[in-house]
Amino acid sequence: MSKTIFIYAESREGKLRQVAKETLGAAQIIAKEGDTICAFVAGSQITEAVSAILPYGADQVVAMEHADLTHYNPDAYFAAIKVALDQTKPDIVLLGHTAIGRDLAPQVAAYLRAGQISDVTEIDNEDGEAIFTRPLYAGKAFEKRVFESTPAVVTIRPNNIKPAELSETAAPSSVIDIAYPAPSLRTVIKDVVSKATGKIDLTEAKVVISGGRGVKSEEGFKPLEELADLLGGAVGASRGACDAGYCDYSLQIGQTGKVVTPEIYIACGISGAIQHLAGMSQSKVIIAINKDPEAPIFKVADYGIVGDLFEVVPLLTEEFRKV
Ligand code: FAD
Repeated sequence: MSKTIFIYAESREGKLRQVAKETLGAAQIIAKEGDTICAFVAGSQITEAVSAILPYGADQVVAMEHADLTHYNPDAYFAAIKVALDQTKPDIVLLGHTAIGRDLAPQVAAYLRAGQISDVTEIDNEDGEAIFTRPLYAGKAFEKRVFESTPAVVTIRPNNIKPAELSETAAPSSVIDIAYPAPSLRTVIKDVVSKATGKIDLTEAKVVISGGRGVKSEEGFKPLEELADLLGGAVGASRGACDAGYCDYSLQIGQTGKVVTPEIYIACGISGAIQHLAGMSQSKVIIAINKDPEAPIFKVADYGIVGDLFEVVPLLTEEFRKV
């Protein structure tokens, strides 16, 4: 029997996020011939995001535009996605395991009376059965799960699933505009004061340079920022560095911070506590710089540099500048 796979194509400030293409990529792994993939785009100005998803091979794009959807608001977005779910009657719903996806997915699962598998890092399709892999115990173990029934809800960790590719042969998706149901909102967002620097989003960055307590001060983050800028990456931090006031909590990576899976993660002056590893141990290549050769971070690192970060980081920057 053919099924409908629904993805929430996340956008922010009118721009499609990379995780939207990864969510679509996940749907394409799961889909069999004859299945329908619907991508849902919501926001206050969605023309650009809708155009951005069209050539990636979804069968249908369901679009909803309204001023209430300018910023993520649980009431507004849940009401919006409910309309799209009622219209498309999906068997599987996929969302990014992002701040928005993590908030929206359980509401969707409860609404559909569906089971949920969260934080999926790998999907295999074995003879039409989707097998979802997710990390446990801060990445120390993995489990594989399948659904026994549908509907089912899945969140996928950003930067893990191969994004959908531009499809030159497939017919462009059809676009269906649906009306916002205008629910009464229990909270209204008056203003958003962004702490982001306007640089690359930490959770989507291909390179993350992270600083820990070893960075010693706010000023100590400067060489890390310089290296991140040069490599087109983002700066992250351990909770130790955030607690010490060296940087903002929006940079915190770990169990109680952000989860990142970049191509390259450079940990500078971070000891490697399990709570920190929970947020970065799935990075493709981990490089640790620490002056203590016994630091636990070296156990998860692919490359380790025992040395003073204030010497090593500027040297790396100098060398990368030559490339
Ligand atoms: P430290 O453990 O103090 O390590 C500093 C390191 O820097 C040392 O290894 C030292 O050798 C090295 N160093 C010092 N100077 C230099 C130098 N000049 N050059 C090179 N190396 C140098 N932590 C997180 O990161 N993220 C979380 O989300 C998180 N959540 C938590 C949740 C709970 C419930 C709890 C209890 C803790 C949580 N923690 C989290 C805290 C965690 O347990 C550690 O305390 C924290 O990660 C330590 O940060 P750190 O590695 O920067 O500092």
